[in-house]
Amino acid sequence: MDVPTNAVDVLRRVFGYDAFRGEQQKIIEHVIGGGDALVLMPTGGGKSLCYQIPALVRDGVGVVISPLIALMQDQVDALTALGVRAGFLNSSQQLEDRRAVEKAFLTGELDLLYLAPEALAGGTSSTMRLLERGRISLFAIDEAHCVSQWGHDFRPDYLALSMLHERWPDVPRIALTATATSRTRADIATRLKLDDAPHFVASFDRPNIRYRIAPKAEPRKQLLELLRTEHPGEAGIVYCLSRASVEKVADFLVSQGIPALPYHAGLDSRTRAANQSRFLREDGLVMVATIAFGMGIDKPDVRFVAHLDLPKSVEGYYQETGRAGRDGLPSTAWLAYGLQDVVQQRKMIDGSDGDLAHRRMLATHLDAMLALCETVECRRSQLLQYFGQEGGACGNCDTCLEPPESWDGTVPAQKLLSTVVRLDRERGQKFGAGQAIDILLGRRTEKVTRFRHDELSVFGIGEDLSEPQWRGVVRQLLAQGLLAVEGEYGVLALTDKSGPVLSRERAVMMRREPERTKRSASRSGG
Ligand code: ADP
Ligand code: ZN
Repeated sequence: MDVPTNAVDVLRRVFGYDAFRGEQQKIIEHVIGGGDALVLMPTGGGKSLCYQIPALVRDGVGVVISPLIALMQDQVDALTALGVRAGFLNSSQQLEDRRAVEKAFLTGELDLLYLAPEALAGGTSSTMRLLERGRISLFAIDEAHCVSQWGHDFRPDYLALSMLHERWPDVPRIALTATATSRTRADIATRLKLDDAPHFVASFDRPNIRYRIAPKAEPRKQLLELLRTEHPGEAGIVYCLSRASVEKVADFLVSQGIPALPYHAGLDSRTRAANQSRFLREDGLVMVATIAFGMGIDKPDVRFVAHLDLPKSVEGYYQETGRAGRDGLPSTAWLAYGLQDVVQQRKMIDGSDGDLAHRRMLATHLDAMLALCETVECRRSQLLQYFGQEGGACGNCDTCLEPPESWDGTVPAQKLLSTVVRLDRERGQKFGAGQAIDILLGRRTEKVTRFRHDELSVFGIGEDLSEPQWRGVVRQLLAQGLLAVEGEYGVLALTDKSGPVLSRERAVMMRREPERTKRSASRSGG
């Protein structure tokens, strides 16, 4: 069988496209050949074809595991329209429909079967028994970051998917995600038992999106200014943290003559569906929404995505801003960020139900997001670095276009890194940013005296900066990859880039911290 020709043939005949994009062909050939794969591609990158084509070429039914139950009907309809035999099984379904899909699966009259992960949880469900009686061509595990506690969207049901490998050792598995740092990626591979699978990592760059992060002063006025001067009459999404602010901002925009609709989980499902379909169909509507909105939304001409509140993670930010400019035309990602956002999110983390490890993970995500907000370097290259890609200054983000005021933070960086080196020498003991800062500030806390850290040469050498400034230094070093946090306890560690800073071969520039007085804190409440 001439596999590649076959794949190209299916691409043209069934999907009507001329050529594969990026890594698609390599991935597809690999899976058709029976190999496992871990695929990282940004939203809109074309992940679906990576399992749909192998499922059509290989014998048997391709089983797709997806958490997006609400989208299964749409996905199946779209495939059916192309002449692909697809079905889904989920809890929202009529018994009759279910039976029909089960029968089609068993008789091999399906090409693709979509399932929710909970259908397989426990490994003893009726769905499991059904799968064992059919012939499966491959397993596609969509939104694979859901298996990782390090991701931003952990779903316990995904953990059960590790058994696919044991029960069907000969069936290839392809895990796909649009959002994974190198740590999450490693975690996905371990938990899904994909240790030997090659990783296919597509570029995460979205060159047509201009990233901008502004200090939050009067967020609604700032937003209005943006819409009126740069995006009049254009479609966009405005993300807010709470349902109440969604409603208020939507009302405000309407009162200013801008057509806007609200979307959040507190609206009844009919209103939600109606607003969503208006946004997709009509031109120039602004959707004001919580992050409940957007998964799987494929509207090519979204010209801007604005965040009025700080996203909880870089992954979330990247995914939400990625909904702008899918058509490749110039688009804006704009975020207003103030001290109050940080205070509020720290509070939410402290008050969250999870255990300590979970809270630390949330804090790490938040720190990375803050670092992106505070960088003096190109936003895009920092964003790409976060996803493990290198890149120079882009010329299409706010820091490239209007370089911010910066200061030479080399000396504080050396002080902090030297402290980390000394703490690292204490075998068996692990310390985080708090301890390092206490030492630099010369504080004789209980924990400092207990470990005799007041006897270290670095004790008290950082009194020229305040605690918040030191936190800024830590965040910015993390952001620049000159420092790392490891493990569930947030232990600080050097990276392979730290050496040149310690040996004075490399300077470290930092963004000037905005004046964070009480007055600006209360004004930036938004
Ligand atoms: P993802 O799941 O990665 O977000 P999709 O699989 O939904 O992305 O693909 C995004 C869009 O790109 C879809 O409209 C899809 O039909 C289109 N697409 C994917 N691959 C190709 C290709 N090789 N040529 C042209 N269009 C493609
Ligand atoms: Zn840039």
